[in-house]
Amino acid sequence: MIWFVGAGPGDIDLITVKGQRHLREADQVIFAGSLVNPTLLEQCKVGAVIHDSAVMTLEQVIEAMRAGEQNGWTTVRLHTGDPSLYGAIREQMDALKRLAINYEIVPGVSSFSAAAAAVEAEYTLPGVSQTVILTRLAGRTPVPDGEDMATLAAHGASMAVFLSSGLLGKLQDKLLAGAYTEDTPVALVYKASWPDEQVIRCRLGDLARAGADHGIDKTALVLVGDFLGDDYERSRLYHPDFTTGFRKGTDAD
Ligand code: SAH
Repeated sequence: MIWFVGAGPGDIDLITVKGQRHLREADQVIFAGSLVNPTLLEQCKVGAVIHDSAVMTLEQVIEAMRAGEQNGWTTVRLHTGDPSLYGAIREQMDALKRLAINYEIVPGVSSFSAAAAAVEAEYTLPGVSQTVILTRLAGRTPVPDGEDMATLAAHGASMAVFLSSGLLGKLQDKLLAGAYTEDTPVALVYKASWPDEQVIRCRLGDLARAGADHGIDKTALVLVGDFLGDDYERSRLYHPDFTTGFRKGTDAD
């Protein structure tokens, strides 16, 4: 049995209880060494076989899983954040299906959630944005037509940009080609929830310079949008005049 487990964004307490249970019970762990906090592995049982997938190909990962199955082992495939985002799990699941190996997924806390917590922000502020765009710049992995950063930026929605902190100049230009302005607030969040977390807030017009000044070019998210600003409308849900299925408001009279 293979468990795809979201390790969370870094802080070892941010793995789920279910994920931690499987990690502790695993006979074999294949972890994404480039981003998963290695301290998590201290919880593995003595004798567990540990592989760092940063130095493995897909074929080698699948072979380790297959060999584990033959031994009757339980394997945990530990991915950073939530495995459904930039985790390359689909190709692993399809390979396992072809081999008739059972698997299940345990979701995790994504870095976009940890980054919002680090900056104490809410992506979906009434009167500001009710949409969150999770995306990346094209790098060695291309981005399909229609998902170009400038096209997405045309919405002016709240945005969390992954895998792009090495290209902040290009990102800044593309975002400015959309609905954002030089004054749109941004936050560069480096290693959210890790002990060496850094949060750099600035205007979009200063993003590239801020990244260079702080030497940040990897393991960071760029948050963009007026949800990082000061203006919003209070929620209807908790307004005294608002009636819900749970609470009678003054508008019901
Ligand atoms: N599945 C992961 C994303 C993997 S892609 C998730 O759900 O978070 C790797 C990218 O995620 C990094 O380049 C960076 O943009 C972002 N990232 C991962 N962990 C991070 C963290 N703790 N703080 C900030 N960004 C992080």
